[in-house]
Amino acid sequence: MSLYDLIIRNGMLVTAAETTQADVAIADGCIVTVAPEILGASKEELRADGLHIFPGGIDAHVHFNEPGRTEWEGFATGTRALAAGGCTTFFDMPLNAHPPTLDAASFQLKREAAEASSLLDFSFWGGLVPGNLTHLAELAECGVVGFKAFMSNSGIDDFQAVDDLTLYEGMQQCAKLDKIVAVHAESEQITSALAQRAISEGRTGIRDYLNSRPIIAELEAIERAILFASETGCALHIVHVSSGRGIQLVAEARVRGIDVSCETCPHYLVLNEENVERLGAVAKCAPPLRSKEVQDTLWQHVFDGNVPMVASDHSPAPATMKTDSNFFNVWGGISGCQSLLQLLLSDGHDKRQLPLPTIISLTATYAAQRFGMFPQKGRITPGADADLVLVDLQHSATLQAKDLFYRHQHSPYIGKLLRGRIVHTILRGQTVYLEGKHASSARGRLIKPH
Ligand code: ZN
Repeated sequence: MSLYDLIIRNGMLVTAAETTQADVAIADGCIVTVAPEILGASKEELRADGLHIFPGGIDAHVHFNEPGRTEWEGFATGTRALAAGGCTTFFDMPLNAHPPTLDAASFQLKREAAEASSLLDFSFWGGLVPGNLTHLAELAECGVVGFKAFMSNSGIDDFQAVDDLTLYEGMQQCAKLDKIVAVHAESEQITSALAQRAISEGRTGIRDYLNSRPIIAELEAIERAILFASETGCALHIVHVSSGRGIQLVAEARVRGIDVSCETCPHYLVLNEENVERLGAVAKCAPPLRSKEVQDTLWQHVFDGNVPMVASDHSPAPATMKTDSNFFNVWGGISGCQSLLQLLLSDGHDKRQLPLPTIISLTATYAAQRFGMFPQKGRITPGADADLVLVDLQHSATLQAKDLFYRHQHSPYIGKLLRGRIVHTILRGQTVYLEGKHASSARGRLIKPH
């Protein structure tokens, strides 16, 4: 009789502490043993000679836009892209789907859509907007990972930015519900006034847009959110921090004992304002890409341990929404979730000698810990879900549009030489992606944080 369903033999296992040659045995979708040489019968064996084994990535920040805007992306294409990029779990944001995830009914609609077509395990952020404070408790009951609020205009009419009182009272409630609040931290007052001034003066080019969202707008909003967290005792997460100074504010608040974390995105680490001036709409995002000097400060914080996680903020749209000659009107959002791990391998590991254990912490382990998915997700250890990614680190190739599994095959990373080939992605012991091909049916389950 077989003890195991699957043994993966002789891979280079990347763990928080080290990179070491080992076998991994799996039964009933979980890792049961990790050892230099596993004896005992298995229904199936897989050789991983020459390959590195990473824990399946957790992308804590994507916009897959389903239900309601599947022509922008959708769970089927979005999760195929993630699987091909080495992710096994994702957290979908409450906006850009229609209806947005603002109550139990909209949560249920999204859950049904994901269960029908997601290849990967998922969790959902609920929305915190003016007028929905009475729905936070029911969303917590549904199992949201936390609540997302915009401190500046979201760009979507059905997801309003929070005023200060809504954010403050929402955080009071979330503290009681033991739920984290994630904020898009940019000052609405500064960004909208600068945008209006530029537009009224006919300055609507790329540089004008970049100048309308200065770093001070990010710093002011982060400070305000931290103050509210300190006053309410609510756990706070700052999404897509674009500047080293923003990361610094979060690090200093942590030292003061405030429960605050942050993420940055691959585009702030890999691209800068020269890229957006060259590439245009495909590299538009908010906060915008910064200067090379600011980017260097972000990398320094990655090495200093002040950036605990990287999430893609994959925010796709049809190419038709990317064509306006007025850059303020172009849809902002970067398609990049498929490349997240490879970008860190290229610009982190290859170019800057960022250790592989740090990369798995940035892409999997910390998110599982911070958002209540430990010990099920985020690391390769007995008892955890068998979410694994086999990567050929010797390989590098230039990304081409035809490689992308997004509904719309555009990305600012097309043409970039990427390190590492994602060979095989395994979710709870089952293959979801192998050598360019995906499992044919939905496999994903809702993961509720605890
Ligand atoms: Zn986002």
